[in-house]
Amino acid sequence: MKQLLPTSTAGSLPKPSWLAEPEQLWSPWKLQGQELIDGKTDALRVSLQEQRRAGIDIVSDGEQTRQHFVTTFIEHLDGVDFEKRETVKIRDRYEASVPTVVGPVSRPHSVFVKDAKFLREQTDQPIKWALPGPMTMVDTLYNAHYKSREKLAWEFAKILNQEAKELEAAGVDIIQFDEPAFNVFFEEVNAWGIACLERAIEGLQCETAVHICYGYGIKANTDWKKTLGSEWRQYEEVFPKLQQSNIDIISLECQNSHVPIELIELIRGKKVMVGAIDVASNEIETPEEVAATLREALKYVDADKLYPCTNCGMAPLSRELARGKLNALSAGAEIVRKELVAKLDC
Ligand SMILES: [Zn+2]
Repeated sequence: MKQLLPTSTAGSLPKPSWLAEPEQLWSPWKLQGQELIDGKTDALRVSLQEQRRAGIDIVSDGEQTRQHFVTTFIEHLDGVDFEKRETVKIRDRYEASVPTVVGPVSRPHSVFVKDAKFLREQTDQPIKWALPGPMTMVDTLYNAHYKSREKLAWEFAKILNQEAKELEAAGVDIIQFDEPAFNVFFEEVNAWGIACLERAIEGLQCETAVHICYGYGIKANTDWKKTLGSEWRQYEEVFPKLQQSNIDIISLECQNSHVPIELIELIRGKKVMVGAIDVASNEIETPEEVAATLREALKYVDADKLYPCTNCGMAPLSRELARGKLNALSAGAEIVRKELVAKLDC
């Protein structure tokens, strides 16, 4: 990446109201059949345009073709029965009715590769593609087939690796795995979570990222955050091992967060996507606020490794709000870029 402080988003962006009910997660589609296929493609075009207008450097599909960041991928796999549902506690936090793993899991055909090729055709900018991480996938299902969470995660890692290799061949520059579960199950992360992630990126030449956050701005997450106290030290548990891993980039949340920013020191040497936009607030950050967060992060991340980003996905926000926040991200990054260049010139 030649651009200093290249901006990107963590993943999802709001969908147009003609495609899905706005400001909701798992929002049902409003179209069907060929109209839905065309509608998703059009929404992807619009989302790309919004990112370009806001000056975002590393663009994505805004997850316009998926209903949910985990389940949409799983829907395309064999071995999972979406009719057979069980209630489980997701992220050890909230109960949800989830599909059941009933047999060996496999990927009969690619899931997002066609969408990624389409995005590649639309732009020459670097593109990032998000996939769910193996541990987070396991945590969103009822496992009635494999003997352990680890075994199922390992199978998912192999499947994700197949998909990731095809995404790379389609021209994706950065493949990101979303692992909010890494912020909850520390022992498992260190025992097998990171190993599964490394299996998922095996043999890839493109850059790889892992996104670890405190979740979307939904009630279950904001309630959970209230129980975490004034200092959120969850990253401390997993960063040392991630620092040793083969993952290139770590995406985390910083803005308005109680994460002590010095914890980033634990991943020194990695590229860091610093969340400088709070997705759980309806206030649009000022460029100066974004710049202040980035300046703090620069104490622990070398300038050539800092990637300004959002804390998490913005799917549940209004389009206007998301637009404002993307503009603030770009403007804030530009303030700090100018400061860095001025320093170099001295
Ligand atoms: Zn997130």
